[in-house]
Amino acid sequence: MDLVQLTRDLEDLRAEALGQVAVAPDSAALEELEIEVLGKKGRLTGVLRGIGALAAEDRPRVGAVANTVRQTIEAALRERGAALRNSELEARLRLERVDVTTPGRPVRRGSLHPSIEAMGDIARIFAQFGFVVHESPEVEDDRTNFQMLNIPPDHPARDLWDTLYVDVPGHLLRTHTSPGQIRVMQAMRPPIRALLPGRCFRYEAVDASHGFEFFQVEGLMVDEGTTLGDLKGLLDQFAHAMFGARKRTRFRPGYYPFTEPSVAFDVECLVCGGSGCPACGRSGWMTILGAGMVHPVVLQYGGLDPERYQGFAFGMGPERISMLKHGITDLRLFMENDLRFLEQFR
Ligand SMILES: [Zn+2]
Repeated sequence: MDLVQLTRDLEDLRAEALGQVAVAPDSAALEELEIEVLGKKGRLTGVLRGIGALAAEDRPRVGAVANTVRQTIEAALRERGAALRNSELEARLRLERVDVTTPGRPVRRGSLHPSIEAMGDIARIFAQFGFVVHESPEVEDDRTNFQMLNIPPDHPARDLWDTLYVDVPGHLLRTHTSPGQIRVMQAMRPPIRALLPGRCFRYEAVDASHGFEFFQVEGLMVDEGTTLGDLKGLLDQFAHAMFGARKRTRFRPGYYPFTEPSVAFDVECLVCGGSGCPACGRSGWMTILGAGMVHPVVLQYGGLDPERYQGFAFGMGPERISMLKHGITDLRLFMENDLRFLEQFR
């Protein structure tokens, strides 16, 4: 092995390696090539093994040539590597291009349950008159659900409100939202304008117009000098907002233990407009809620002086309101979760 031969070998290696670099198809092939030529056990190291056989004064000269060869190959590798990475990126961008003009998949939209929707409508109307929504527990005690509403344990009205009892003695699932009146009166001072929407329960044989589970919306106003005339005016406004401005309304005598006097509030039939039809039992009227002046006993249980304060209360079923508005004939539909029914209220 002499200097000339070794130098030629190095130059041959350079020429061959540069040729391979130029045609490397991708960066993976380029990396392999780098290891093969310049790696610890690569071809350059292989050629330089012959350096030991040279005369001592020739070794630095071969070393200088070897360095140049290495630098030339490294530079070629860098340049080719950059070019390959660029074209690979472009290819990937072309391949993964997103067409932003493609129409999206439609998102399935739900809708409010008709009971909830009706309660929202009711709350919005009464909000205009300053009524604020309050919540009250679904599991009540017997005292608040009955006794404080002027229905003692032996009262015959209890037959109308038979309910479901829970394991805690003296507690039951509330039969109406009216116990919320007591809770509101105990929690705040007049003037009170409260709206109490919520779920109620009764031990009831289920049919087209009765359910063991249903919603109610209770309203309560207490202040000094509140009269039955205020109640009538408020309910007229409500009926006109809910069912139409020209609808006639009327009060009929009613009975509830917790109001005195008590009334039923009717709107002229939404189907026949008052001339009489099967939907209104040929009366021309449809009852939409019960109401009355808060009984003095109830005011006392609420911690208020009935000599100073008067109030009225009203209660209605949002399902009934919804049935009247939409011409629904069976109350059971509201609790069956049948999408064919519910999807009609989108
Ligand atoms: Zn009618």
